[in-house]
Amino acid sequence: MQTRNHPLISPTLGTARQITSFHYGPAGGQKIYIQSSLHADELPGMLVSWALRRKLAALEAAGKLRGEVVVVPVPNPIGLNQHVLGHLAGRFESNTAQNFNRNFYDLAALVLPHIEERLTGDVEANRNAVRATMREVLDAQRPKTELDSQRLALQRLSYDADVVLDLHCDWEAALHLYTNPDLWDDVEPLARYLDAKASLLALNSIGNPFDEIHSFCWSDLRERFGDRFPIPNGSISVTVELRGQADVSYEVADKDAQAIIEYLTLRGVIDGTAAPMPPLAFEATPLAGTEPIVAPASGVLVFRAMYGEWVEAGTAIADIVDPLTDQVSTLKCTVSGVLYARHRARLATAGMEVARVAGATPIRTGSLLSQ
Ligand SMILES: [Zn+2]
Repeated sequence: MQTRNHPLISPTLGTARQITSFHYGPAGGQKIYIQSSLHADELPGMLVSWALRRKLAALEAAGKLRGEVVVVPVPNPIGLNQHVLGHLAGRFESNTAQNFNRNFYDLAALVLPHIEERLTGDVEANRNAVRATMREVLDAQRPKTELDSQRLALQRLSYDADVVLDLHCDWEAALHLYTNPDLWDDVEPLARYLDAKASLLALNSIGNPFDEIHSFCWSDLRERFGDRFPIPNGSISVTVELRGQADVSYEVADKDAQAIIEYLTLRGVIDGTAAPMPPLAFEATPLAGTEPIVAPASGVLVFRAMYGEWVEAGTAIADIVDPLTDQVSTLKCTVSGVLYARHRARLATAGMEVARVAGATPIRTGSLLSQ
């Protein structure tokens, strides 16, 4: 195991932060990149990273790693230091209001001007050419802020990984994941091992979140050049939502870490036989098919349906109780699917999205992610 430190731009006098990466196994084979808690107040993944590092250390000592596994348990030290009146606020940078999981360097746009003359009829050579170009364009970036230097440090670690896992969580949720539809066949075994209750597919949900800047580049190049040059899925990138913010326990962290180990064993990164693949809990659905359940007015939010459950169209998801007018508004879903996430707040404000249901038919366009 190697430990590497990547200093960030110092944002202010007397302050300096760094990203620390841990590298297991030999370089030169497959490369796996795993980070946790990019939104700094989403801690389940950080405990999974910790559990995973112990398992990887044991596997490395036993000589069972065939590829390199890079773990970045703390990819957002900036966010971890943002406390407001006793609350950790780790989703947006306090200085710019930018979401820590948006606005990554757009690999597709950066690679495009340089790649066409480097492509050939050989798929492996094209994989290498695209990655070499990615490295060059990332090396050419000159970030000016601490936040941009953090984004660049992470991308320089991950751009050439065959598999990229970005471990997040929701407010209150069943385990679910986001990935590119081109990758579903490769991601489905991971969804099975993790027992994901929803798998949400989108090619480009707008905003350049971490997982998409990896996979979208390859999909975009295939769209543009695929009729002349073979372009592989060079990065199987997935955002995994490890349930809700409070779901931090040794038991689930060990279970999730072991699921990732089984997936890496199945992919041949770890020597051995993977555990039998469990059934897929629910079919994958388009991210554009998810229905936000929105409060029409303010009041006390009382949920009537549990996350992780299948709900039929018309099911009562929650009530909004107004103690001044005595009005009780019942919010119902209009699509059938898994209720996969709920808000953590219990005071609804007018227009607040309080839950999401994974419907099977696309009903939304434009920016598909929440703020
Ligand atoms: Zn997140």
